[in-house]
Amino acid sequence: MAKTLLEAKKLNNFIDGNWVETNETAEVINPANGETIVHVPLSDSGAVDTAVEAAKKAQKEWAKVPAPQRAEVLFEVGNRMKERKERLAQLLTMENGKVLEEARGEVQEGIDMAFYMAGEGRRLFGHTTPAELPNKFSMSQRCPVGVVGIITPWNFPIAIATWKSFPAIVGGNAVIWKPATETPIMAHELVKIFEEAGLPKGVLNVVYGKGSAVGDAMVHHDDIRVISFTGSNDTGRNIASDCGKQLKKVSLEMGGKNAIIVMDDADLDLAAEGIIWSAYGTSGQRCTAASRVIVHEDVKERLEERLLAEIEKLTIGDGLDEANKVGPIINKAGLEKIQRYIQIGKEEGAKLVAGGYVLEDGNLAKGHYFAPTLFTDATPDMRISQEEIFGPVVSLIPVKSFEEAIEVNNGVSYGLSSSIFTTDANRVFQAQRDLDTGIVYVNAGTTGAEIHLPFGGTKGTGNGHRDSGVQALDVFTEWKAVYVDY
Ligand code: GLU
Repeated sequence: MAKTLLEAKKLNNFIDGNWVETNETAEVINPANGETIVHVPLSDSGAVDTAVEAAKKAQKEWAKVPAPQRAEVLFEVGNRMKERKERLAQLLTMENGKVLEEARGEVQEGIDMAFYMAGEGRRLFGHTTPAELPNKFSMSQRCPVGVVGIITPWNFPIAIATWKSFPAIVGGNAVIWKPATETPIMAHELVKIFEEAGLPKGVLNVVYGKGSAVGDAMVHHDDIRVISFTGSNDTGRNIASDCGKQLKKVSLEMGGKNAIIVMDDADLDLAAEGIIWSAYGTSGQRCTAASRVIVHEDVKERLEERLLAEIEKLTIGDGLDEANKVGPIINKAGLEKIQRYIQIGKEEGAKLVAGGYVLEDGNLAKGHYFAPTLFTDATPDMRISQEEIFGPVVSLIPVKSFEEAIEVNNGVSYGLSSSIFTTDANRVFQAQRDLDTGIVYVNAGTTGAEIHLPFGGTKGTGNGHRDSGVQALDVFTEWKAVYVDY
């Protein structure tokens, strides 16, 4: 069914308002069944050069369009996304594998972002400030940066694209966008929507291809003044150092090793629900996924029982079948990485109490499925408790006190999301102060961040800039100070 939703057999780049073919392409595989859905361009650096030339020209005019009018385009985009929500969700499930319910949630995030950022088009506020000297008027204003580059991942192919492209566009910039080659369909659909909504040509350009070709060309292009990247830690660090040498602004979000703390006074049913959803939703392939549970030793056994009972109920399979709660892993490489960590966990001495294997029965053999996995008796220093696995794997780490729980939470190189389950109001406030992550949840799991607050993290997660929220405008605008003597 969803297969017939996509008319194209081959996708094209979108440069200066034209769909442009490339010679080289790659297959896009549905991770649920191994079938080829479509072919995606593998572009070279020449395509980036052409796109930047078009973007430079378009941006000059776009910057002159009053911001509230730029915002009108986003209102149109939001309305169209709303009308097409189900189509987008089905296509998203097909290319990424996440179950339909989650795909609908992700598309909704994009819709919310459209209306939220459209509103910001009327609020691109600067300041007027009292001048130090007489007969002087002083003010500041937000200005576009120029041509900006966005590099988006496969795990949230539409939501993260909207977190970056919408503030960039409403801020008066022109965009060069490299979507992940695993999930190009959402980019294709979003560009079509922008086209219909009347975005002038050249303001949004999509160049598909590998990071080593297209991403690299973007990072090194003199006329791209911002790179906003979500993806792996190694790639992000390389981008940061290359951008640093060129004094190019860079915003990075590079994952997490997120923990849920369960205290001895927690509502354990609520905690189990939060853990299951955050750990196994999207098969653990979220930057915010909970991959550690830091549990007070007094409630460890009771929590473990509840988790095992809930894991039993998780039905695994193609996300287009709404009976399924957990979909596939994006590709074989992802699956193999998870398998390696299972081996590491066993060797390190953690106790495997659920899952730990690839599902190979019947139809599942055609896709890439991994059983929801739980290790108990893990220690904070084990590699499975320190490194990002990006799969449905959780380590339960017992602790003796609240203080120890905070210390274990903070004792990793990442700092994206954290959560605490407790009924003690003092601990709630102490935890939100002491948890060293960009996002803190109380009595909820580590996932599900909404678009009206800044998304990002501390330490190895990123460099302090943020996606979504009004703070995203800081990435895509520059401040200008203006003095008028009179
Ligand atoms: N919006 C997602 C959440 O909060 C996370 C996006 C990501 O994994 O990068 O769960």
